[in-house]
Amino acid sequence: MKFGGSSIADADRIFEVKKIVEKFLDKKPVIVFSACFQITNWLIEAGENALNGKVNANKIIDFHYKLAKSLGLDDYKIEPLLDELEDLLRGIFLFKEFSNRIKDKLMSYGERLSVRIISDFFNLQGIKSREFDAWDVGFVTDSTFGNALIESQTYANINDILGGLREDYEYTPIVTGFIAKDKNGIITTLGRSGSDLTASVLGAGLLADEVQVWKDVDGVLTADPRIVENPKVIETLSFNEASEMAYFGAKVLHPASIVPAMQRNIPVRVKNSYDINAKGSMILSDDYISENNLSKNGLKAITSKRKIILIDIESTRMLGQAGFLSKVFNVFEEEKISVDMIASSEISISLTIDNRYNVQGIIDKLSKIAKVHISYNKSIVSLISDVKKSTSIFSKVFAILNNESYNVQMISHGASKVNISFILEDSEVEDCIRLLHKEFFD
Ligand code: ASP
Ligand code: MG
Repeated sequence: MKFGGSSIADADRIFEVKKIVEKFLDKKPVIVFSACFQITNWLIEAGENALNGKVNANKIIDFHYKLAKSLGLDDYKIEPLLDELEDLLRGIFLFKEFSNRIKDKLMSYGERLSVRIISDFFNLQGIKSREFDAWDVGFVTDSTFGNALIESQTYANINDILGGLREDYEYTPIVTGFIAKDKNGIITTLGRSGSDLTASVLGAGLLADEVQVWKDVDGVLTADPRIVENPKVIETLSFNEASEMAYFGAKVLHPASIVPAMQRNIPVRVKNSYDINAKGSMILSDDYISENNLSKNGLKAITSKRKIILIDIESTRMLGQAGFLSKVFNVFEEEKISVDMIASSEISISLTIDNRYNVQGIIDKLSKIAKVHISYNKSIVSLISDVKKSTSIFSKVFAILNNESYNVQMISHGASKVNISFILEDSEVEDCIRLLHKEFFD
């Protein structure tokens, strides 16, 4: 059972979480927590301030002392961590260095503090529990600070360390999300929002009955609630659909997070910690999903990936260019840039990349073999759907786009069996999604 920062934002929320955990104690859960509330952001901010000469962790320190106090706890477990945190900020200030490695260590205090406080609180409330830093239950990653990859021995480690609880469940293990250590014992993080991944890895390592991800929404929704007024909860969806949704903009799960569960066929349930009675969503292997779970029109969800970069590449030589694609994609590999969508003809390629990338390197290299045109502020709209029904979906979608004079700039269809994507100007996207959602889901 994983609870994110907003589910443990204050003493009241933590009390609610305790009630939820109690309901599942007979299933012998392992619990994962993120850092409380906005703490990860505050830690990064404190690190940046320290780099610029201002060492001050008061906001973070006060938050945790206050929280411990309002839960009726003393602070003997969190005090040394908070002291260390101040030392680290001083270190950043003195060395004028805030590398990803240091940032990972700094962010790790958020989760280390939350599990200690909540485990103490659970014990006080009669749920016998014990906190663990993820490395103490076997999490090992590579050394890509800020975005570390789980090493495969982690799964066996977890089973060795926590597997015994299947028979002998004497306490509820409470594990830090998001953080781990590399094989040299240096603290790493799994990427922002990585606690979902922690939960999925634990579920896979223990071959759990299911992984539960508790959020502040009713489940996986048919569209972003900030864009659409009345999105609906999707009751069941496949691993493929869920990962396409996550990669193409849905905020509900960390994109890589379901992979470990998927590989071992462990269902992932998304539930609302603000409303335990809401049904939630279940992510399962394809075999369990029946057709009638799609909306009548064959559409399951609409997501968008905003403000991406569109790159048009046209070979400077004309026809018969064997190897052109390979030359182009080599450049992307060299520059470590991941491509999202592609359309191609014999001498030209259009593709999209995330806006976090710097494109100068690709422009320089590609200009030797092609004309390159870069445009910004485009967005990908993805229709998570049954591609077998795409003709009928397209006819509806294009009627709407045509009506509004939206100009579709690129389409990807067929490569993924569950995703049809197209590109619009970012400024058109929200209205477009509202119209499509109305047509397909209302
Ligand atoms: N606390 C981390 C973050 O804010 C991890 C998580 O929330 O899952 O990114
Ligand atoms: Mg979070």
